[in-house]
Amino acid sequence: MGVAENLVQIQTRIRSSAESVRRDPESITLVAVSKFQSIDLLWEAYEAGQRHFGESRLQEALPKIEAMPKDVTWHFIGGLQTNKVRKIVEVFDCVHTFCKVAHLTEAEKANGEVTAFIEVNIANEPQKSGLPPEMLDEFAQNLLKLHNVHFHGLMTIGPVVDEVEQMRPYFRELHRLNEKLGLTELSMGMSGDFEVAIQEGASHVRVGSAIFGSRNI
Ligand SMILES: *Cc1c(COP(=O)(O)O)cnc(C)c1O
Repeated sequence: MGVAENLVQIQTRIRSSAESVRRDPESITLVAVSKFQSIDLLWEAYEAGQRHFGESRLQEALPKIEAMPKDVTWHFIGGLQTNKVRKIVEVFDCVHTFCKVAHLTEAEKANGEVTAFIEVNIANEPQKSGLPPEMLDEFAQNLLKLHNVHFHGLMTIGPVVDEVEQMRPYFRELHRLNEKLGLTELSMGMSGDFEVAIQEGASHVRVGSAIFGSRNI
């Protein structure tokens, strides 16, 4: 199937998962994760009405941002290298992966504004990026001080599990932490688990392979 058909299917699945828990489907943003995909495929998605795209590396994203129309909203979803944060804040609209104090120091120097998510290592996995949940309160206070970074919510890449239902408690816990901080947006759910994420309160789902097929790495 092509990108346009895949998008229709994903939108249908988003709608039914939202309705299954009486949420408004319009409150959910589908971020099409286009990392490692060609500009041709991004165009196909754009022509099918898709306007939010997610990229994970600055160098790869720059020519895509240049080539695509200006009404695209660009989401940075990759690991942040401190020395690239400034530029990332300048060219992206939304950054999902803030998790170190050094990121914030750099972000503040940028000549541009972004909306921001804090990446949380919700299962406390060693070797995984993201902030441990117990450090969240202090980090959130630091983030709220920045004048050009508008903090909207938490984000997670859940642990690898055998069954999608095993993700539910992690998503539920992230939602709980989000509400505790008084935040309204929540970035969680990928191709394999976005429906559970929506049932547990996701506002942004990040879906790549289910739209574009496998990546050419
Ligand atoms: C690659 C990636 C995705 C998309 O993954 P799929 O399984 O292809 O949907 C979502 N979020 C992040 C942070 C990613 O790096």
